[in-house]
Amino acid sequence: MLTEPTTAPAEKDFLPGPVLLLGAPGVGKGTQAKALMAAYGIPQISTGDILRANISKGTPLGKLAKALVDKGKLVPDDLVNQMVADRLSQPDTRRGFILDGYPRTLNQATWLDAYLAADPYTLPVVAISIVVEYEHLLRRITGRRISPSGRIYNTYSNPPAVPGICDEDGTALVQRPDDSEPVFVERMKTFESQTAPVVEHYRKQGRFEEVDGDQPVEQVTAAIEAALRRLRTSKTLNI
Ligand code: AMP
Repeated sequence: MLTEPTTAPAEKDFLPGPVLLLGAPGVGKGTQAKALMAAYGIPQISTGDILRANISKGTPLGKLAKALVDKGKLVPDDLVNQMVADRLSQPDTRRGFILDGYPRTLNQATWLDAYLAADPYTLPVVAISIVVEYEHLLRRITGRRISPSGRIYNTYSNPPAVPGICDEDGTALVQRPDDSEPVFVERMKTFESQTAPVVEHYRKQGRFEEVDGDQPVEQVTAAIEAALRRLRTSKTLNI
């Protein structure tokens, strides 16, 4: 005899399709994208991570991007769009994906909209804008320290037991060159002038929700998951 399942269906049963995580530097896009990736089994695509990987490998793209990234300036749209096109053409994106840190300009948004509209299998994009107070962003960014294995600490809110050393594996923590206060200020200006219009673009399109990022990580994740469920009716999940 078959027994009734005693637990709720796994989140993997729910396919969120293409998801944009929008928000200023430090709102938690990367952290939340990783949580959603684990919950739904769809990939996180972070243009910042792809650019940093190119910078550390010293590729031609990395060499071009480094000076801009270090100053908090945006990398030209054409280069970033091409990077995203290359990544989206990989088969693991067919069930959905989470774009983190892209699009950051109206030009990128228009390009992405056209790219996805040309794909008959893709659900319409949904956008989540994470919002956090400016002073909190400043502390999150300037306090951020990262271990080589990707574990994230914060000197204010989540310090390691020994300053500068990862609790897990004893490696030295590093600060991203663009996490200094002057570069943070520049990145915020870039966000206000170039990316805030992108948030408005998706707000106007309607498949959009704003989430309060000034809560514990798990609560933000739960709020995003609830928003995604509202934004996708069961009908639209038939892909
Ligand atoms: P992030 O890791 O998302 O904070 O991105 C770090 C830096 O990479 C940004 O400050 C930009 O210099 C660059 N970058 C990341 N994503 C984009 C994008 N979509 N367009 C242009 N530049 C980007």
